[in-house]
Amino acid sequence: SLTLGIVGLPNVGKSTLFNALTRNEALAANYPFATIEPNVGVVPLPDPRLDTLAEMYTSEKTVPATVSFVDIAGIVKGASEGAGLGNKFLANIREANAICQVIRVFDDPDVVHVEGALDPTSDIETINTELILADLQTLEKALVRMEKEARTRKEARPALENAKRAKDILDSGRTLFAAQNEVDLDELRELHLLTTKPFLYVFNADEAVLTDEAKRKELAELVAPADAVFLDAKVEAELLELDDPDDVQELLSSVGQDEPGLHALARAGFHTLGLQTYLTAGPKEARAWTVPKGATAPQAAGVIHTDFERGFIKAEIVSYDDLVEAGSMQAARAAGKVRMEGKDYVMSDGDVVEFRFNV
Ligand code: GDP
Repeated sequence: SLTLGIVGLPNVGKSTLFNALTRNEALAANYPFATIEPNVGVVPLPDPRLDTLAEMYTSEKTVPATVSFVDIAGIVKGASEGAGLGNKFLANIREANAICQVIRVFDDPDVVHVEGALDPTSDIETINTELILADLQTLEKALVRMEKEARTRKEARPALENAKRAKDILDSGRTLFAAQNEVDLDELRELHLLTTKPFLYVFNADEAVLTDEAKRKELAELVAPADAVFLDAKVEAELLELDDPDDVQELLSSVGQDEPGLHALARAGFHTLGLQTYLTAGPKEARAWTVPKGATAPQAAGVIHTDFERGFIKAEIVSYDDLVEAGSMQAARAAGKVRMEGKDYVMSDGDVVEFRFNV
């Protein structure tokens, strides 16, 4: 499944956040390089639609979609030259499908800031620069080989031109993901470049930032069009210790939040990975299934079982909103809201589906 790699400068709260994601108790030490081995944290994607479906179908349980985060060893300036845990960092990040950068915007004199002061713009640049430098190294090696090939094979020239464009973009200090209109990223796929991955930004904030709408807007604009999530990693960890929903609500409102930051993070992660869900419901379970945006009905069926994709005949589909408005599947059918879709149908988020297939 697709994963987001959690990166960030040392001491920004990555371990604290990751521990909240996995609910495990590993030590979040006030120490650079505290997170060494990569680990995966799987978080449910909050989806209130499942509760509504479970009620309608008297389902025994709900099964939400999930989002996976991988904890990646800390990065420092010079990672692209192998400094610190540089090489390990780059190898781990190569395996992630998107990058989740944690940025410190909390004030705490007891927690050392590696760069000396809070400066989100500079933190973003530090990470971008290391990834850009690593990609330039990869590209420069590849270009030698591609130039040679293009001299003897005319068909290899477009790929060479594309790679040169990529190099120019990186030379100008931009990521390839941000410049994807100027370069064919598919054609560069086999080089496994790091800056082709989408970014998501988590601002690890304190109450002062969380309650300051203008500040949040400013930070969100700094990273747009990437998603920005605002949370207090320490509070997220504390929330998991609380059993009483009233206590949870109280702690959240004390820092100006109306829901746990992990919920927003799960949604943003899902969005950044280019994923969406469709829904199934029955007496056993109401469930959300994960598909990439643009998936066809047979591909969606294949997520439940590969046999379903092979034997796909058609899908009976109603949009969640239409189903809820009608009140039941039967009523939705009577109202003409239920469609029979064939193998070319492209799934929409929130489609409620029953597949027909041969086995
Ligand atoms: P990492 O090096 O990025 O993994 O950072 P850690 O998660 O180990 O956090 C470094 C230090 O900052 C630890 O002492 C944490 O308790 C503290 N810390 C993390 N998040 C917050 C936060 O939101 N607010 C405050 N005040 N401290 C935090």
